Amino acid sequence: TRTPVNVTVTGAAGQIGYALLFRIASGHLLGPDVPVRLRLLEIPQAVKAAEGTAMELDDCAFPLLSGIDITDDAKTAFDGVNIALLVGARPRTKGMERGDLLEANGGIFKPQGEAINAGAADDVRVLVVGNPANTNALIAQQHAPDVPAERFTAMTRLDHNRALSQLAKKLGVTVSDIKKLTIWGNHSATQYPDLFHAEVNGQVAAQAVNDQDWLENTFIPTVAKRGAAIIEARGASSAASAANAAIDHVYSWVNGTPEGDWTSAAVVSDGSYGVPEGLISSFPVVAKDGRYEIVQGLEIDDFSRARIDASVAELVEERDAVKALGLI
Ligand code: NDP
Repeated sequence: TRTPVNVTVTGAAGQIGYALLFRIASGHLLGPDVPVRLRLLEIPQAVKAAEGTAMELDDCAFPLLSGIDITDDAKTAFDGVNIALLVGARPRTKGMERGDLLEANGGIFKPQGEAINAGAADDVRVLVVGNPANTNALIAQQHAPDVPAERFTAMTRLDHNRALSQLAKKLGVTVSDIKKLTIWGNHSATQYPDLFHAEVNGQVAAQAVNDQDWLENTFIPTVAKRGAAIIEARGASSAASAANAAIDHVYSWVNGTPEGDWTSAAVVSDGSYGVPEGLISSFPVVAKDGRYEIVQGLEIDDFSRARIDASVAELVEERDAVKALGLI
């Protein structure tokens, strides 16, 4: 029998955690033959709720789940971790300035980065879901100097999946007919879902759509503002779809992307496409041999250039703000 993979989930008692843990334990994160050991990190006042979720996990009798530990201590949570899903974050509350938000999250992601640096397994892979995800990932990465920088990523797969679905609806095709879609930049309203490199049954997606007004004034804002639309409709933020995207992100990372396709993930920039080196920004990526690699050599036209630059400028601002706060 295989040694279980240690999977740590932070904010485990939250909404996304509730949708995520059962799918990890049932084998969707890594594959149907990989046993997992779960570590749940929560703040002290949410440990009891996490224990409740753990009771339900027990009651599912998942054959692949070889154990659950619950803790409020980051060092314990990340000791020996192979896959770290950083979901818990400080949400923006009414009247909160951006600086306060970044500072509160620095207080979470700095110690978590340090704990990953101190105790994680050599093959650790980190996915940050908690917002502002790209910058939270940067903070954690900067405090884990012994871990290769490329192991820190942030999630734009939900944006990617949202874009696939919107495009499929518009063209009356299935999501499987669409390849090479890209989300560029920040996981925020400035993100750029790119249809100029995407293909639909072999044709360039933007040409298949042939409606620049829809692309600019419907498609891009619908994808970027989908989270708010779901809150409006559901009365609560998206949780199952965010959890699903986290599963997709890690599954692709570990098991690879299909030949002839790519996906989107926020990874550490190597300077590709004019994105400053070191920023954690979303790119077209392929996963090979357990690594995400930025797809190289795409032609970027003026329309895409301006959108990518605007989102990257926002990431630079966030980085400069956390630098000014002494968080990195
Ligand atoms: P959720 O589980 O709904 O969300 C968790 C985080 O995911 C938020 O930062 C949220 O950002 C983010 N997120 C990213 N993408 C999405 C998306 N598409 N839809 C919704 N959320 C998204 O939050 P809860 O409040 O239910 O739970 C958070 C839990 O984290 C709590 O149990 C809390 O105790 C815990 N926590 C743990 C910490 C720790 O372990 N050290 C630290 C802080 C909190 P956004 O707010 O922008 O939607």
